[in-house]
Amino acid sequence: SLQIIENLKAEIEKAGLSDHAMVHLTGCFGFCAMGPIVKVYPDNVFYVHVKPEDAAEIVQSHIANNQVVERLLFEEPALDHQKVQKHEDMAFYKKQLRIALRNCGHINPEDITEYIANDGYLALAKCLEEMTPQEVIEEMKKSGLRGRGGAGFPTGVKWESASKNPAVNGKKFIVCNADEGDPGAFMDRSLLEGDPNSVLEAMAIAGYAVGASQGYIYIRAEYPLAIDRLKIAIAQAEEAGVLGENILGTGFNFKIELKYGAGAFVCGEGTALINSIEGKRGEPRMKTFSSSKHGLWQAPTSVNNVETFGNVPAIINKGADWFASYGTEDSKGTKVFALGGKVNNVGLVEVPMGTTLREIVYEIGGGIPNGKEFKAVQTGGPSGGCISARDLDTPIDFKSLASIGSMMGSGGMLVLDETDCMVDISKFFLEFTVDESCGKCTPCRIGNKRLLEMLTKICDGKGTEEDLADLKDLALTIKNTSLCGLGKCAPNPVLSTLDCFYDEYLAHVKDKK
Ligand code: SF4
Repeated sequence: SLQIIENLKAEIEKAGLSDHAMVHLTGCFGFCAMGPIVKVYPDNVFYVHVKPEDAAEIVQSHIANNQVVERLLFEEPALDHQKVQKHEDMAFYKKQLRIALRNCGHINPEDITEYIANDGYLALAKCLEEMTPQEVIEEMKKSGLRGRGGAGFPTGVKWESASKNPAVNGKKFIVCNADEGDPGAFMDRSLLEGDPNSVLEAMAIAGYAVGASQGYIYIRAEYPLAIDRLKIAIAQAEEAGVLGENILGTGFNFKIELKYGAGAFVCGEGTALINSIEGKRGEPRMKTFSSSKHGLWQAPTSVNNVETFGNVPAIINKGADWFASYGTEDSKGTKVFALGGKVNNVGLVEVPMGTTLREIVYEIGGGIPNGKEFKAVQTGGPSGGCISARDLDTPIDFKSLASIGSMMGSGGMLVLDETDCMVDISKFFLEFTVDESCGKCTPCRIGNKRLLEMLTKICDGKGTEEDLADLKDLALTIKNTSLCGLGKCAPNPVLSTLDCFYDEYLAHVKDKK
């Protein structure tokens, strides 16, 4: 992509068009299967699978002579492979609604003026100049926004709790959880790489609502591009007077610092993350008090996920009622999913809550490659569960996914076809959680190891039908007795596959005594 940018710039200069055409870097537009993507404005033409050597033709044909380069257009399977020019005509985008990802792929994430030109920092100005902190909280509560990191706790309620609890040593904190660790999940990464200012703006709004003047972004060190862009965005926002001291001349101060996670999955758990920022071992705390009462350095702290923050400026700008008009009774707004696995259109998708899995897999995702049969969707990563064809028409929201044995999680969505073994899949995820257990509590540290040993025995064809009953029994015990979400949810892939694909387990133990 970087070479394409260089080549486009060079070709534009060579053609003497520098006064008429500019090349802009953007974040990801979500259609990973078709990248690298080039869009030409104002025609809104969408080129796919562009190579550096295509730059000359795009400039000479399209920019200089207004002739669209047909061979680089997307062939839409839903329209008999007809070539389409605009992303709005592609099945991949038609059912999507982009609120959190509204700027990703549209603006240059390294230039704050492009964010500001797209209503950036307008929401912060509105909060500081026209709303009291309590009014901001009421607006968030009314919007129905729930945490997008997995637990789905109402954001406005969390902010209210942190706002009501007294400061400790004059301090309260806002923390952005950017420790995205699920295998195959890249929602937060993409949002931070594509639109870092929306997260900074939302954190400042949260700081104003809660009464905090310091924010931390806890981000994985393995996300170097997101880190670079956040550093650029923070410096530009401070320079522009929308972050730091005396924001927009209102007397409100809010600073943001980055803290790097070393890659431990458990540090995505709120209290382990807080320990890690404090420089302690990244282990979850006993939940004697919520973080909104005693969080970072025992002060009231609101920990919110990247995608949750990504929604906040749009809610303030367009209103809680607008946001709540999307989604279901239980879950308002949209959810971003990293759609991957055995599906034609791999990519990042944002859909209204209530969209069915069938719509995501077959319409947005374009179905299963190579004429294979759909078998299951795994949602929620290692903490989630597998959903079979039986539940393809379930409208997705926090409640419905839990009712069919899975969970929203942070948004990983892995599609599996008829060739995948569901017992192997559950073993894959269990191996991950066993590796990532922090070891603090016994059910998770030892129980999950024993569970994996039993599962390995079954996968190796050495198990019996009685082992299946023991497997379920131990999985439920771990689920009910572990200290934190990692251990509580680790058995989910086993339990959900036992429920939906018991035949496959039976096939592994058949004829064994
Ligand atoms: Fe650590 Fe697992 Fe216990 Fe969580 S459940 S505290 S990850 S040992």
